[in-house]
Amino acid sequence: MGARRGADYLEALNTSERDIRIHGERVTTGLADHAAFRNVARAYAALYDLQHDPELKDVLTYKSPTSGDPVGTSFLQPETLDDLDKRGRMMKTWADRSFGNLGRTGDYLNSAVMAMATAADWFGQVDPRFADNVRSYYEHVREHDLLLTHTLINPQANRAAGPGSQADPFQAAAIAEERDDGVVIRGARMLATIGPIADEIIVFPSTVLQARPEDEPYAYAFAIPCDTPGLRFLCRESLDQGRSHFDHPLGSRFDEMDAVAIFDDVLVPFERCFMLRHPELLTRGRMYTETGALTHMTHQVVTRDLAKAEFILGLLSVISESIGIEGFEHVQNKLTEVIMARELMASSLRAAEADAAPNDWGIMSPAWWPLNVARNWFPRTYPRLREIVWQLAASGLFGLPTEADTIGDSREDVERYLQSATQDGVDRVKLFRLAWDASVSAFGGRQEVYEFFFFGDPVRMAQAVVGSYDRAPYTERVRAFLDEDGPVATR
Ligand SMILES: Cc1cc2nc3c(=O)[nH]c(=O)nc-3n(C[C@H](O)[C@H](O)[C@H](O)COP(=O)(O)OP(=O)(O)OC[C@H]3O[C@@H](n4cnc5c(N)ncnc54)[C@H](O)[C@@H]3O)c2cc1C
Repeated sequence: MGARRGADYLEALNTSERDIRIHGERVTTGLADHAAFRNVARAYAALYDLQHDPELKDVLTYKSPTSGDPVGTSFLQPETLDDLDKRGRMMKTWADRSFGNLGRTGDYLNSAVMAMATAADWFGQVDPRFADNVRSYYEHVREHDLLLTHTLINPQANRAAGPGSQADPFQAAAIAEERDDGVVIRGARMLATIGPIADEIIVFPSTVLQARPEDEPYAYAFAIPCDTPGLRFLCRESLDQGRSHFDHPLGSRFDEMDAVAIFDDVLVPFERCFMLRHPELLTRGRMYTETGALTHMTHQVVTRDLAKAEFILGLLSVISESIGIEGFEHVQNKLTEVIMARELMASSLRAAEADAAPNDWGIMSPAWWPLNVARNWFPRTYPRLREIVWQLAASGLFGLPTEADTIGDSREDVERYLQSATQDGVDRVKLFRLAWDASVSAFGGRQEVYEFFFFGDPVRMAQAVVGSYDRAPYTERVRAFLDEDGPVATR
């Protein structure tokens, strides 16, 4: 099949039978046409269609090593700097289509599966069949161009105790039974963004998994189709309120549903298992770092974050021109903050790509620290970018009629009283509705929390930075300076 088209994705989604719980209802088919999912599903479909655009297909696809058909570039196992550059351009092309607001486009997890397949022997250290499973899964996803979601986190019951010490040891999804043909999984995982509209879910270990004997039932890595019997998704409220693109320009296009994944005694076939038990191998994110998956996933994320910073910069520039505020000193200061954010993200990305080298598994990989710094910095910076939007757009975010007012009796008022220095009333309302959706709507609020927790808890991520950064050259330099005059006691 190879790189698919949007219509293929939508048809597969509509005909698959799954168990989705939303707004008190159980939805089993026709997901691509359901009010909560149809717009975001079409945004995803549009990305798949780009793979067949004559002007983009050379960037977005490459020739499958098995079928010879074009397949998505995010599956490309990069051997050269040119391959890596092509991967980066592919990711940016997709990210720009949503201004970075689609956080779970296929390239994110395709990058993980791609890297893990190159490191299949890491899984094989426990059982050679796991290595085969990882390789076959990668080929399966690549050749069918499947959309993946993932879930890593145990339900938030009592964080002071591990999953095995909760009131219900099967609140967090655990291995309930091991059989010859696979394992039975019982319990829940948080949170599967796009779960209801993805083809498959990968269920990987949490980075905070511990390596105690009691954590064994929670140690596993597998992938199954989202329509597997016994798997259901419990969705949050939809943020796509069925309004026009004029009224909710982002929410009406890009609301990626978040859902709790519930495994009601789900049989996971052995060939879909990549690791079972062995918490000592799965603790502290070892699976992601030692296979190189984390680096390639972060490459995609930092590329998307750059698209988002560029969106905020473009938006604020149009706003400040529209209402004539660009000349004010503090406005220039705030625009400078956004320019710095854009440039620092771009610089990190460029540094990571320029210093790329083959990893332990032989694939060309971006340098880790520029990416690691960017993935730790952006969650702290995005709330500030969002704040600057509301600080500069001010009352314009609320003196904000809807599209219906621009075509009804109030049009004259809109034109007369809501015009700006450079825009007529309707265009200015349209612009400020975009600013509202980016900064103060429920959609905008979710984006901020999403970015903040994207890679996990920033507090524990900071612990990992401090614990792994090589500071020796700098501490030695300071110690040498202090020692220049000899020990104080001898003076
Ligand atoms: C919008 C959104 C979408 C998401 N989508 C996905 C997804 O698609 N797939 C997925 O797997 N995950 C997803 N997540 C989950 C995300 O990975 C987690 O939010 C993140 O890892 C933090 O874990 P938590 O939410 O369980 O917070 P908790 O671990 O419950 O933390 C809650 C608070 O307690 C503090 N805390 C807890 N334990 C400790 C500790 N040991 N030491 C210090 N402080 C502690 C934290 O700092 C935090 O302030 C999503 C989250 C959000 C918000």
